[in-house]
Amino acid sequence: MLDALVIGAGPAGIGTALALAAVDDLVFGVVDRGAIGQTFLDWPAEQTFLTPSFTGNGFGATDLNSVHPETSPAFSLGVDYPTGRQYATYLRGVATHFALPLLEGTEVTSVTPRDGGFEVRCSRGPVLARSLVWAGGEFGDPVAPRIAGHPLLDHSSGAAAWESRPGDVVVIGGYESGIDIACHHVRRGSRVTIVDEQSPWDAGSGSDPSFRLAPRSRMRLVAALSTGKLTLVASHAVAVSPTSDGYSTRLGDGRTVTSGSRPIAATGFGPGLGPVEHLFASRGDGWPELDEDDQSTLTPGLFLSGATIRHGGMKFCFVYKFRQRFAHVARVIGDRAGKDVAALEAWRAAGMLTDDLSCCGVECAC
Ligand SMILES: Cc1cc2nc3c(=O)[nH]c(=O)nc-3n(C[C@H](O)[C@H](O)[C@H](O)COP(=O)(O)OP(=O)(O)OC[C@H]3O[C@@H](n4cnc5c(N)ncnc54)[C@H](O)[C@@H]3O)c2cc1C
Repeated sequence: MLDALVIGAGPAGIGTALALAAVDDLVFGVVDRGAIGQTFLDWPAEQTFLTPSFTGNGFGATDLNSVHPETSPAFSLGVDYPTGRQYATYLRGVATHFALPLLEGTEVTSVTPRDGGFEVRCSRGPVLARSLVWAGGEFGDPVAPRIAGHPLLDHSSGAAAWESRPGDVVVIGGYESGIDIACHHVRRGSRVTIVDEQSPWDAGSGSDPSFRLAPRSRMRLVAALSTGKLTLVASHAVAVSPTSDGYSTRLGDGRTVTSGSRPIAATGFGPGLGPVEHLFASRGDGWPELDEDDQSTLTPGLFLSGATIRHGGMKFCFVYKFRQRFAHVARVIGDRAGKDVAALEAWRAAGMLTDDLSCCGVECAC
């Protein structure tokens, strides 16, 4: 029986595995149904990171997109805003360098708690593990708005939404992914309307990037608006229907906006828990309920890693946020297995270990 199995080889799975590798003598493995960094390989080619990479590691400011204290995508890739393919290359390089025990092309289809551990059914056969880390990501769980005609929408995570489109373009949802894809189509010469009742393009009051557009998005938004081809509408879409020459999106305020192609839903993702969904309790807002160790409140020994983590009002939806938990989870797993976890303090020194979550809500003064 393994001490731990990590499901998913994106930044969360690779990062957690790297922390597990620092625990003396721990026997663990990683599986992914696709390749290392599969989600990033599946990103539309035009999409790039919005968190910048920079090799500040030596001075305690570890590259924001790094998953290990001694690595930096800026250093290994030579770019500051990696594309999906570039970031997948970084992840593969790190996994190879640290010789992670990893199986690609191995899908987990079911998980059953059994005898102080878990029986995990994979496409290559069963695996037994004492602890389990779900790092399956949210990309496989795109969420469309519940409005009439929603099957007529293209989700922003799909390649179709990024292709050139005839006529005007309508984007439902105006946060990061909505701004991203709208700016992309404006750059290609389309007239674009973004519809979002919350007006997330306005500055907002807090400094947390999970609730406020990133500077890169803000700069792109200003540039797109200056072309006169981008319109922002603070209303919500209530229905989509086909017309003789395209599509009509009806808004809550009675107006309609028309488009020459299927409207794009930039409405985010769900928790994507797949085969472990039944092993987590759900919070009132639909996100999995976790204890202070990012462990399921329903199933001891099952941990969550990645952008799906929520604690109270805190979202961990960037690499620089959810990586704060890799070493913490590895320490809990290592302690339970009776192993030496001292090496994980290197994560803290690199600014990559937060075990006291009360310090994460700091606001910038200016
Ligand atoms: C469009 C978009 C843009 C983003 N931009 C940024 C950004 O600029 N900066 C930033 O910090 N964050 C960004 N994020 C947020 C976050 O960093 C990414 O979502 C990131 O991919 C999350 O990492 P992860 O490892 O949790 O999930 P993923 O990278 O999705 O990895 C999950 C892995 O699990 C595998 N898997 C899933 N189910 C199974 C199964 N049943 N069996 C085996 N394997 C399975 C998948 O194949 C995949 O490889 C962005 C997210 C999105 C959606």
